[in-house]
Amino acid sequence: MVGLRAALLAWFDRNARALAFRFERDPDPWAVLVSEVMAQQTQVARVAEKWLAFMGRFPTPAALASAPTGDVIRAWQGLGYNRRAIDLQRAARAIVLAGGRVPEDIDSLQALPGVGPYTARAVAAIAFGRPVGAVDVNVRRVLGRLTGADPAAAPQREMQAAADALVDPARAGDWTHALMDLGATICRPARPECDACPVRTWCSFAGVAGVRPNPAPGRRGAVPFEATTRWLRGRIVGRLCGVPPGTTVTFDGPLGLHAPEAVSAALASLAADGIVELDAVGAARLAGEQA
Ligand code: SF4
Repeated sequence: MVGLRAALLAWFDRNARALAFRFERDPDPWAVLVSEVMAQQTQVARVAEKWLAFMGRFPTPAALASAPTGDVIRAWQGLGYNRRAIDLQRAARAIVLAGGRVPEDIDSLQALPGVGPYTARAVAAIAFGRPVGAVDVNVRRVLGRLTGADPAAAPQREMQAAADALVDPARAGDWTHALMDLGATICRPARPECDACPVRTWCSFAGVAGVRPNPAPGRRGAVPFEATTRWLRGRIVGRLCGVPPGTTVTFDGPLGLHAPEAVSAALASLAADGIVELDAVGAARLAGEQA
């Protein structure tokens, strides 16, 4: 265990990905929370681009909490899954109501809108040095291979226990980043580079021919992205971000491959999520923006 930790952290010290949202010391918990929410469903390179501008605009929970929701959605453009922006603003408002500081304990973090078990633990480890493991799909794959468990079948509590047991308590934040980087650059889903892996000595799967790749959750078979509701929602929000604040837009025809009925349903779901507001005749504008 000690050797494995030392080997991975030594590798991390030499090979850490230089990402704008990583901090050498004394990380700002708010900045960490924002980066982790952004990274939930967006590639880290894209997050790195957007995070700096977002933090410049909303440097504190109070700044985000008091902003018009439409401004937050506009600042979120390019990251996708706009619902996360809404939840992040709700989280900021909850933090402000509780005194303005990002909470340290996992239960309080997880009680924030949009913060699940992974994000809560990542923030606790990176921002506060708590010795807890953050298990996302990539970490699950790495841990599964290291310990010989089936990443697709192992119960979450087993994976969580394995992750917690492995954390280096002296460098919990670096450990969290190191596991993420290992999963992203070496222990990839397909064709892991076991020969270059710093923890090969301790790995049950090291060099095993045909290490089983995880299922690719992003794959949608033969359905083109343009045919998905996600595309449609993103196109609607993108169009609303392209007009001056408070301007209403009427969507009364098809959009791309989507019939008017599907467009109406997408508008209704965006309104239910708090992303857009609809007037009496069904015209839409970004939430919180005044005409
Ligand atoms: Fe992954 Fe191979 Fe390293 Fe094991 S030895 S953790 S399978 S890259």
